[in-house]
Amino acid sequence: MDLPPISVIGAGIAGLACASFLEQNQLPVQIFERRAQAATRGGIGLLLLKNGIDILDKLGLKEQVSQAGCQIHSFNQYDNKGNTLFKNLIQDCIAIDRVSLLRALQSTIGKSQLHYNTSLERIEFSESNPVVITKKNETWPSSFVIGADGRGSRTRNLLYRDHNLIKTEESEIVGKVNHPEVFDRIGQNFCKILDPEGGVALGLLPLRGGDIIWYLQYSVDKFPNLYTADDSTLFREIENLIGDWSFPVNVMKEIIEPSDCFHWRVELLNKPLQQYGTNTVALIGDAAHPLLTFSSQGANSALVDAYELSKLIIKNQELGKPLNSISEELTQIREPQIQKYRDSEKQLLNMFLQPYSQKTGTVPFSK
Ligand SMILES: Cc1cc2nc3c(=O)[nH]c(=O)nc-3n(C[C@H](O)[C@H](O)[C@H](O)COP(=O)(O)OP(=O)(O)OC[C@H]3O[C@@H](n4cnc5c(N)ncnc54)[C@H](O)[C@@H]3O)c2cc1C
Repeated sequence: MDLPPISVIGAGIAGLACASFLEQNQLPVQIFERRAQAATRGGIGLLLLKNGIDILDKLGLKEQVSQAGCQIHSFNQYDNKGNTLFKNLIQDCIAIDRVSLLRALQSTIGKSQLHYNTSLERIEFSESNPVVITKKNETWPSSFVIGADGRGSRTRNLLYRDHNLIKTEESEIVGKVNHPEVFDRIGQNFCKILDPEGGVALGLLPLRGGDIIWYLQYSVDKFPNLYTADDSTLFREIENLIGDWSFPVNVMKEIIEPSDCFHWRVELLNKPLQQYGTNTVALIGDAAHPLLTFSSQGANSALVDAYELSKLIIKNQELGKPLNSISEELTQIREPQIQKYRDSEKQLLNMFLQPYSQKTGTVPFSK
């Protein structure tokens, strides 16, 4: 008798990449996504680093992603008066907006497998096989469930009730703007502008055709009014913080469009998971290990998780072995590396919170 498909919860970076690897190996998958349709939100971008780019290469997407994004050549740090603090050449780094990356991943998957507007409600276990129950009360028998439903993962919440998300010391406001003058000025460089007092930084990432991703990182403890700002006060609070910053123009006036930005109140797990799942459910990406943004490893490690999990599933299926130990195997493969990212992020966060004179220049991501 044919096994039911593998169910993937979440058509984000980890879920789409994992489903794509499984499909390439003729394993039946079904993907359930809470969003009403394919990704459209434009304002968020990220850096693809070597580990993530290598996985996209395995999916045949390296060229497509390189075309859609911008190769970054250098990381340049400035103070808020425009003085150069630090420059460092970097390799294997592409700035890309989230939608372009999701579109590339989506293009590798059969449309009939993707179910939008379909949220996971709970998972039931019948004769050891899991059944996905959606919010619309549909039931989807599955041979295995992959929880790739992001930072606030419902899959994780169903498995681990003593794990919850807690506020962190840093949050971000992220947006996208088209500004050819600033775009030309920053070139193919990742620019970061720092308040020498610490606790505030503005990142600028060039995309294509004059598009720039900007993100304002700030200390939640130092700037509680910004953290609690609503749509009517956000602009004023940002202005209080960086209204007179002068690189590369007055960034506040020229770049920041509060009507089209996303206030990301970053949260982390109260403690790391001991294991990324159980014998019938595995967790990948932010669902398994939400990270801060400092290492730029959120999206990249989601891609690596997707690859490693699919490799384990494919190997076990080829050997005719049950999948009940793969969450444990996945944890053994991935958790040591993820712990390194957590450690390096903690260091980068501490540096960010301190005055600049106490810092040594460093490229702000982990490999
Ligand atoms: C809005 C947003 C902005 C971000 N901005 C940045 C940034 O600027 N820089 C950076 O480095 N990282 C950023 N990140 C983090 C980075 O994108 C993540 O680390 C990376 O996307 C992790 O991939 P993932 O597949 O695990 O989770 P995600 O990409 O978050 O995907 C999870 C998917 O699951 C879906 N989902 C959630 N719950 C359910 C459910 N119950 N049923 C079905 N589907 C569900 C979601 O709609 C989503 O499509 C951002 C994340 C988000 C969500």
